[in-house]
Formats: sequence, C-alpha cells, structure tokens
Amino acid sequence: MSKVFFFSIPFSGHVNPGVGLAKELVKKGEEVIYYCTDSFKEKIESSGAVFRSYGSKFYLNDDFVTHNIIEILRVHLELSEIIMEQLHKDIKRDKPDYIVHDFMSTWGKHAARVSNIPAVNIYTTFVEKPKGFINTIGLVLAVAAMMLKNIPRMIDIRKISGRLKKKYNIKVKGLSDIIDNKEALTLVFTSHNFQPYSYKFGVNYKFVGPVSMYRNEKIKGFKLNKSEGRPLLFISLGTVFNNDREFFIKCIKAFGDMDIDVLMSVGKKIDISSLAIPENFTVKHFYEIPQLEVLNECDAFITHGGMNSVHEGLMFGIPLIVVPQQLEQAHMAKRVAETGCGIYLDMSEVTPESLKESYKKITSDDSYGKNAEKMKDSFLKAGGPERAAEEIFSYIKSIDRMT
Ligand code: UDP
Repeated sequence: MSKVFFFSIPFSGHVNPGVGLAKELVKKGEEVIYYCTDSFKEKIESSGAVFRSYGSKFYLNDDFVTHNIIEILRVHLELSEIIMEQLHKDIKRDKPDYIVHDFMSTWGKHAARVSNIPAVNIYTTFVEKPKGFINTIGLVLAVAAMMLKNIPRMIDIRKISGRLKKKYNIKVKGLSDIIDNKEALTLVFTSHNFQPYSYKFGVNYKFVGPVSMYRNEKIKGFKLNKSEGRPLLFISLGTVFNNDREFFIKCIKAFGDMDIDVLMSVGKKIDISSLAIPENFTVKHFYEIPQLEVLNECDAFITHGGMNSVHEGLMFGIPLIVVPQQLEQAHMAKRVAETGCGIYLDMSEVTPESLKESYKKITSDDSYGKNAEKMKDSFLKAGGPERAAEEIFSYIKSIDRMT
C-alpha cells in the first residue's frame, strides 16, 4: 500500500472525476489523502479517501467565476505561494509515496518539485496542445491583448514567481506553466477517439476514458418528476457559468408547450420563484440535482459542454445539444458535432426556435443516439478508473526501478 497526496481544485467539474479515480485507488489498497476545500468534504470522503482541507487562507471557491485568464493564472500562483509552506510540512511529516494533481493545481506540481516526489497529472478536459486543434495564432493574439489589459496582474505574477524561486527554488517557466502542470505521466479522462488529434500526443499522455461517473452520488430528498411514457429532457449549464437567466427563459419558451417532461438545472444566482415555470418543467439549483441519476432516465440532454457533462451524457448513450459558455466548452461542442453525437448551438445565436428544432432533430434522427453509443464504447474500451490506476502504478514502479 502506498500513501498518495491528491490535489484538486474546488470545482465539481474537477472534483467529480478526481473522486472517481480516488475511489479506485482506495479500492486497490492505496491510502489517499485528498486536499480540497470544506464544501467538498462529504463527496471526497464518500470515495474512501481521507479529506484534508487546504485551510482558511486558501480563498478559491466556486464563486470565483471569471473569463479573465490572467487573473486565473495570478490566483493559482498566489495560492501556491500561500499554501506551499504547509504542504511542504505535511509532506515531510506524512511522507507520501507519490502525488496526483489536477492539471490546474499549480501547488500540486510545485509541492512535488519542492519535495522531490513523483507526480501524476490528471486532465479533466481535452488536452489542447497539438497544432491544428486550436487557432494558435488567434489564441496567441488574444493572450497578448489580455496581457496588455492586465499589466498590474502580470507584475504580480512576476513578483510571486520571484519569491517562489527564492524561497523554494520553484521555476515558473512562463504563463502556461502555471495552469498546464505537466508531468512525465498525464492521464486524460477521455478516449483516443474523442480527443481531437490524439495521435499527435506523445507516450506521456494516456487516454484512459472518463471517470467522473464512478463517483458515489447521493442528494438527499431528490425525486425525479417523470411521467410514465413521456420523454425526459435535461437542461444544465453545469456548476460554474450557469446564471444566464435569458437562456433559461428561452428554454421555457421552447419546451413549455411540448408533451415532454423537462428538468432544468440553474445557477445559485437564479431566483427560481421569479421564473414563469410551465406545468411540464421542474427547475432546481444545480447542487440539488444528482446528474447521473437524472441521465439514467433521460432521453435528451442540453448541456453547456463541460467535459464531465458531455462524457456522462454519452456514457448513457444520450444525444446532446451543446450550448457552450466559453472556449474550452466550444471545443467540446465542436467535437460532439464532428462525431455526430449531437448538435452545437452558438449561445449568441440561440433562440427558442433553434432549441426546439434541435431537440426534434436529435430525438427523431436515430444516428445521434447510435453515434453516442459508439462513443460510449470507446470510453469503456479506454479503461476508466481501473486503467488509470494501472497506469499510475506502472509509472511509479518504473521510477522506483530507476532510483
Ligand atoms: N452536475 C450535477 N448536477 C447538476 C449539474 C452538474 O451533479 O445539476 C455535475 C455533473 O454531473 C458533472 C459536474 O457537475 O460531473 C459538472 O462538470 P462539467 O465538467 O460538466 O462542467 P462545469 O460545471 O465544470 O462547467
């Protein structure tokens, strides 16, 4: 049995797959100490891992919602500096054999370097490196423009990097080094078939398939309203960018008069009582909805295109309508459309009519469902948590042999 330090970032889209893997490691006899914020304690403990809090100085939580990438980088680097001393102490005392960290957990990689412990990186979205997948020039220009708009933040990043170098000899090699925390082994939670340009990635990348659906999920008091013989449509914008009231109103206009049941998951800032909710709709805040339980019963899924939601939908063989909220989700939406598993709708152009038309299309043309089933097969073949654990063990073994 090995001791593992597991570092996540406090968002469901990162903890849900993390917990899917942690559960498997525990099952295989590892002692997993899982760092996160208190709001995820119960979920993490349900995997059998030991929960450990990042502590009161760690200020990141799921209310931190921004499209400003430079601010995200600054925050992650600052948090690494804030908690590094404590992590270093914990590592010295508990002597973990290896670290598993989320690709956005800057402090996970830094803790591994400072303590000279092997580490594995887990990717909870597509890996976006090979040329040709994203518009590289467009992205470089967008980042350059962002940098100009964020000069005080850039200065802050420089200062923090300097202090990390001085105190811990941590070298921050550039902006992308802050949230693309590479290791000699990176587990990507999708299949080769679904990851765009997967053949261009080196042997360090293992496409082990989705793992978030292996978590234990229980939400007290939840009861699904579903009439006998009536199709169920699930609508969700996920757990972060999910307060677009106008979008939810468009959904109500699109589906309120149809002979289907609709469950709609909305963000915390949406006042549900202020919506004119039709008889066939149930509207709940996202933290009240066990998505896996719902997907098990539903016929179509309108999603924002978060990696986990897309994989979970496809694992149930459900055709998707993807309405992305940001760039990473747009990549997911594009891939869903390319693979014939669903339809990509641009949020800026979405109307009640386009929603209704897309719904009719994915539920009447059975090619979408068939392609979703095929993708599900590719996910299962990729191996899931069991393969992920095996990859970790063989990597750690190979390092042990070298030392
Ligand atoms: N989720 C849920 N109930 C909801 C909405 C989302 O349980 O009403 C879960 C979902 O199953 C998934 C995670 O929250 O595992 C969301 O992750 P995803 O990557 O799809 O999107 P994010 O919230 O990170 O944008």
